[in-house]
Amino acid sequence: MSLHLYDTYSRSMREFVPLKPGKVGLYTCGPTVYDYAHIGNLRTYIFEDVLRRVLEFNGYHVKHVMNITDVGHLVSDADTGEDRMEKGSRRTGMTAWDIAELYTNEFKQDMHRLNIQEPSVWCKATDHIQDQIDLIRCIEENDYTYPTSDGIYFDTSKLSEYGHLARKDIEGLQAGARIEMGEKRNPTDFALWKFSPAGQKRQMEWDSPWGVGFPGWHIECSAMSAKYLGEFFDIHCGGEDHISVHHTNEIAQTQACYGTRLANFWMHGYFLQIDESRMGKSAGNFLRVQTLMERGYDPLAWRYFCLNANYRTKLNFSWEGVEGANTSLNRLRSAVYDWGEAGAVHESFLHRFSEAVNDDLNMPVALAITWELVKSDLPAPTKKATLLVFDTVLGLGLGEWVPIEEEIPGDILAMLAERQAARMEKRWQDADALREQITAAGYEIEDTPQGPRVKRKQITIKE
Ligand code: AMP
Ligand code: ZN
Repeated sequence: MSLHLYDTYSRSMREFVPLKPGKVGLYTCGPTVYDYAHIGNLRTYIFEDVLRRVLEFNGYHVKHVMNITDVGHLVSDADTGEDRMEKGSRRTGMTAWDIAELYTNEFKQDMHRLNIQEPSVWCKATDHIQDQIDLIRCIEENDYTYPTSDGIYFDTSKLSEYGHLARKDIEGLQAGARIEMGEKRNPTDFALWKFSPAGQKRQMEWDSPWGVGFPGWHIECSAMSAKYLGEFFDIHCGGEDHISVHHTNEIAQTQACYGTRLANFWMHGYFLQIDESRMGKSAGNFLRVQTLMERGYDPLAWRYFCLNANYRTKLNFSWEGVEGANTSLNRLRSAVYDWGEAGAVHESFLHRFSEAVNDDLNMPVALAITWELVKSDLPAPTKKATLLVFDTVLGLGLGEWVPIEEEIPGDILAMLAERQAARMEKRWQDADALREQITAAGYEIEDTPQGPRVKRKQITIKE
């Protein structure tokens, strides 16, 4: 079955056909590095990682670009309030530059813990100021801009298709207007370039044809995606909150300069919620991967938790869910380990798995097929080979996992020695009683040619 993906732009499931044969250009909006990423943000990055892996599973060569927003994302999406980086600087007493570096590194560490593959290109907004200025000039030359006392704005009324991605009710917005207008001509207009406030030196500011200041938040993604992937590329992703403002404005900028809607497919990951409301950095209800680790969970349990739900549905967080995911992950790992050497892949299981992932990344079904395979009566080498192929998409690192050599407590070892002595002296009843005691304590004895070995009891897969 060919790959089908849900495209927010057309609000439909479409067959994925790359613009250039065999190759895919993928752009994913990256983090704003003023704080740690929370597990909700990471749900979106896991969805994007699964997307990339499914594209690779289908044999495409993916060029994946991710930006780092280290300037210009203001506290309010309506282009008002403080820059999040400068605010983070006040909160921590560090410079905005040091904060960006710190949280970028933390983000990369979280990605690594969750087996999220690194993009082919990382790009920082502050490394691409000239590209952003060039794009604003192009938009200005095509007559879509106007100045105000605090910046250069995009006039959204000049673009007839403005807001199509979000199906925005522009008329309603114009009439309603509880949105703070300031000097904006239309409620949906947005900043392309903001001036540094008079008499104030910002930590991050640059010269421009319009005055000293910094780029608006949306321009970086239009400029950098076009730079690395071209003016019209395959897929652009982000979280659902990006539909109404950030991606809508990226499209407007690109239409104004290049006349394209930037990407052929627009895909969005839905929110992680906690107690039925969005997990957010500002809402103060946020959990990090680190928090899960402190509670004794493997970070990949979070990846497993996310795979349990379709990316286009909201997902509610629960500790029981994390516990369940952790248990399932460990069962998969020890099953794969115990199967030994891999043999030949089972074609019909592989076919069913491809159908599931190619059906708009239907991971809950893909996981169900995975468990069906694990519980089947197929020979271990077949199961192993097949599951390792599945794992190129699941990304749970099943092939690399080895059990941690655990220390066997002294009293168990003493009982084992006693049992061995009883056996040598042919006191079979004593030996059996000791074996039972050891089993009751949760350990198993394996009599190997090298002598008896004891290990913690294996979790059984078949209930
Ligand atoms: P930010 O660092 O705030 O720019 O957000 C990074 C990414 O996480 C964006 O794609 C957001 O849309 C996404 N995001 C933010 N909050 C959540 C959430 N609660 N669940 C899933 N994704 C989210
Ligand atoms: Zn973006």
